[in-house]
Amino acid sequence: MSTTVEEGADPRRAELARRLSEVRGRIAAACVDAGRDPGEVTLVAVTKTYPAGDIRRLVDLGVHDIGENKDQEAAPKAAELAAAEALVRWHFVGQMQRNKARSVVGYADLVHSVDSVPLAAALDRAASRYRERPLDVLVQVSLDADLDRGGAASGAAVPERDLDRVVAAVAESAALRLRGVMSVAPLSWDPRSAFDRLAEVAHALRSQYPSATVISAGMSADLEAAISAGTTHVRIGGALLGKRVPLR
Ligand SMILES: *Cc1c(COP(=O)(O)O)cnc(C)c1O
Repeated sequence: MSTTVEEGADPRRAELARRLSEVRGRIAAACVDAGRDPGEVTLVAVTKTYPAGDIRRLVDLGVHDIGENKDQEAAPKAAELAAAEALVRWHFVGQMQRNKARSVVGYADLVHSVDSVPLAAALDRAASRYRERPLDVLVQVSLDADLDRGGAASGAAVPERDLDRVVAAVAESAALRLRGVMSVAPLSWDPRSAFDRLAEVAHALRSQYPSATVISAGMSADLEAAISAGTTHVRIGGALLGKRVPLR
């Protein structure tokens, strides 16, 4: 629907279009290197700190998967985009307070960051009350067991953050659907070994829960490593949206 005139009148749209084609080019090149079909990799644009207008531009450019990491920012953006009848699949990717569950289940299509038994329980309760369909969720995996940065870990000192327990809690929740795993590469790790490790966790999970097919891994700096390790969802902020500026 866009015309050259509109692009000329909206330099931000033109910038997003340029960055989007760069990111799509990186994804395509990484898929060639990995012998994968780019259709297997979903680009999630992480729009935290950027205004709703940027999300409208991205939707107009064909990006419909949008990620946010804070409910207090995501909820009003979701309302604004819904009012504009924009087709958006909302991905909640941040550490989540249990008391936000009711709000998040109202707009989220996929929550990437379930990392504790009580959070799974809160989402299950909220989803059963406030949604018609079950909520798709990923269990966030902490690869280095630094639980402060989010994620559940095998053998975690805190039982409610133990990976197996969180997986079981999600799997037993009638209003949640276990769709896979998410991780952020630990700061000091080579991303390639982090994502290979995540792929092993994902493989083991999938052998037990066949519907757990999603691997959410890879950000602006390390999407190639994630694609090579088999990710299905890359979460891209900076490379797509540019230098982050405070909202308004
Ligand atoms: C911000 C964020 C991203 C995007 O990171 P960039 O480095 O800006 O691409 C991905 N995942 C999560 C969980 C985030 O909070």
